[in-house]
Amino acid sequence: MQIENYIDGAFYPPIQNEWLDNFNPSTGEVYGTIPSSNTPDVEKAVIAAEKAFPAWSNTSIEERSAWLFKIAQAIEDKLEDFALAETIDNGKPISLAKKVDIPRAISNFRFYANAITQFSSNAHETTGRNTINFTLRKPIGVVGCISPWNLPLYLFSWKIAPALAAGNCVIAKPSEVTPMTAFLLAKICQEINLPKGVLNIIHGLGSQVGQSITEHPKIKAISFTGGTKTGEHIARTAAPMFKKLSLELGGKNPNIIFADCDYDKMLETTVKSSFANQGQICLCGSRIFIEKSIYTKFKTDFIEKVKQLKVGNPLAKDVSLGALVSKSHLEKVEAYIKSAPKQQANILYGGKKVTVEGFEKGYYLEPTIIEVPSNQCALNQEEIFGPVVTLLPFSSEEEVLSYANDVRYGLSASLWTTNINRAMRLSNQLEAGIVWVNTWLNRDLRTPFGGMKDSGVGREGGHYALAFFTEPKNICIQYTAN
Ligand code: NAD
Repeated sequence: MQIENYIDGAFYPPIQNEWLDNFNPSTGEVYGTIPSSNTPDVEKAVIAAEKAFPAWSNTSIEERSAWLFKIAQAIEDKLEDFALAETIDNGKPISLAKKVDIPRAISNFRFYANAITQFSSNAHETTGRNTINFTLRKPIGVVGCISPWNLPLYLFSWKIAPALAAGNCVIAKPSEVTPMTAFLLAKICQEINLPKGVLNIIHGLGSQVGQSITEHPKIKAISFTGGTKTGEHIARTAAPMFKKLSLELGGKNPNIIFADCDYDKMLETTVKSSFANQGQICLCGSRIFIEKSIYTKFKTDFIEKVKQLKVGNPLAKDVSLGALVSKSHLEKVEAYIKSAPKQQANILYGGKKVTVEGFEKGYYLEPTIIEVPSNQCALNQEEIFGPVVTLLPFSSEEEVLSYANDVRYGLSASLWTTNINRAMRLSNQLEAGIVWVNTWLNRDLRTPFGGMKDSGVGREGGHYALAFFTEPKNICIQYTAN
């Protein structure tokens, strides 16, 4: 299957006629060809977006909201096709794509279709000076949205929906590793006759398309989700142009388990927070800290549960873990596992590649549990982003808090305890943008989403994304006293 760029409401091959192979991670085979676009394609998209901006930014809120509802409905009507494309592209279990990823993308469009109708700003009287101030929120213009491969349509739509709702025109780039659902989204936008140039989707490498978006002087804001290193590079490149940036980056999230927790619920959720999507969710709790008094019991029970997870063809119904997204990513994760003995860490379970019958070249890996000697080892400090978790016991609140915070990242944290005072004390002190107490990945789309420290800058979600995609403009009017 060959896909094309979506620019100004039409499909085009890359201007320089260069192409990339697209791999199916569950078979390890090439199954498609995607544009390897470059600066001229981005330039063409920017011209289209600039042309579309005056009319789009002047449509009524109700009209833009209606477009977003239409997109959501069109995705829902083709949910099966989208889920299948996501699984073939990414390797994630089809059940996850059907129940979580695609429905969440639909919700993202519906959420912002509603949210924009309630997004208003303040007006106030400056008493004693006969002055009234009010603040408008103006769309920025042409904006860039760059997203990663782990939750392809889910994260792509998390940016595009608020950007469009706020009245901007968008140049969007999905990951080159998982471009298919972005292409299906483009097809839908064409089918429903979304005004031309409002959304443009360019495929290709980060170093070419992503770089061109970042460097383009007419793209005034960039919403990026991806690795911390890439985020740093984007920030450096964009800084001289004073572009607005929202950066959602890596994580190395603590999962803190106290002896007084609801044990069964904790155990079940911890299996998910460790290995959902093959551990390739930025919010996975990859560092598990367990109170000493239940450490041995937890270890035994956790391994027992993880043994029951089936690794296999992601299109099969009974599979818990599908394939990792690419060969290079599999090799990166394997290298971390192989480094365990050198770090005096002990592989308690897993660690090996899995050969799935009929899919021998696929990128399958066992869920892996590693006991580490300290929080300082690379296995606990670096983002692995695969089906690998570490275990480390702790004796006190102070000790576990220091472990949790002693890392460069600060995206999310989970905390398991029935002691409300402890939950409040620790949630308050954990250096994380999101703290879940007795739950995990429990999202209300109105809440701020994002990380502290090297996990990013800014927040997505709710009105935070609408604030990002608009410029506040204060207007101050003085009236005569009589
Ligand atoms: P990545 O940084 O390699 O790529 C992300 C996107 O950026 C891709 O579309 C890529 O093509 C593009 N890109 C690469 N180089 C670029 C450049 N020089 N300029 C502009 N764009 C460029 O990340 P990835 O491997 O696709 O995704 C995994 C990472 O994403 C992990 O670190 C994970 O934690 C992070 N992530 C974070 C969140 C969050 O919300 N904080 C969510 C999901 C994933």
